[in-house]
Amino acid sequence: MAIHYRTKGFFLTEVARGESDKLFVVYTKDFGKLKILGKAIRKIKSKLRAGAREFCLSEIEFIQGKTYKTLTDTVLIDSFQSIRKDLTKSKTAFQISDVLDKLVKGEEKDEKIWSLLSETFGKLSDCQLLYHYFLWNLFSLLGYQPELYKCLSCGKELKPFQLYFSSEEGGVVCNICVQETKKEDSSAQLIEIKPDVVKILRLFLQKDWPVLSKLKVGEEDKESLETISEDYLSFVLENF
Ligand SMILES: [Zn+2]
Repeated sequence: MAIHYRTKGFFLTEVARGESDKLFVVYTKDFGKLKILGKAIRKIKSKLRAGAREFCLSEIEFIQGKTYKTLTDTVLIDSFQSIRKDLTKSKTAFQISDVLDKLVKGEEKDEKIWSLLSETFGKLSDCQLLYHYFLWNLFSLLGYQPELYKCLSCGKELKPFQLYFSSEEGGVVCNICVQETKKEDSSAQLIEIKPDVVKILRLFLQKDWPVLSKLKVGEEDKESLETISEDYLSFVLENF
């Protein structure tokens, strides 16, 4: 007889399979990221449907088949209705799910990633910076925590003037060092980073959500944050 495994999980993505099946990516509390097949789940009568859809949190039960794990039971814990009703929130939930799927490979229990994910989904009501908050904390958990306090090159404490971010080196470089290396041949790509964005990144990694949720972030800073996040994500994905 097959062993039935039970755990909690966030349904991150789903794709249709065959006539009535769906293949889900679920981030589970006890087994990390899993691919699980929902057999006949697209049929109206399926009992699994309520607790197995994108962005919901459910108690799940599955068995390990030859090729796939197969869902045998679901109990919905939170459907995050408010996410589905709001375009910005669903976009944020999608970005979080997507980046987690890309950056976390193995089927391995990881309590820190689980609690970061639970915490982030719980904050989706207020999500201007949430995707980035999740992303930078995930970088940190995966061993890519950037240096945000000292210049990577001279080691001096960063002053809030012209600063640059290097994805390759994982941190910030001061203007004096950038001027100096310009004379030499430097292959490292540097992107200008707004000093306020450095502060926001620090708040992310300090998990200072009370302050972050009240921050008013201007357009320029938002663009700068998005550029840095994208660039660092590409670097991490290439080197992972
Ligand atoms: Zn420096």
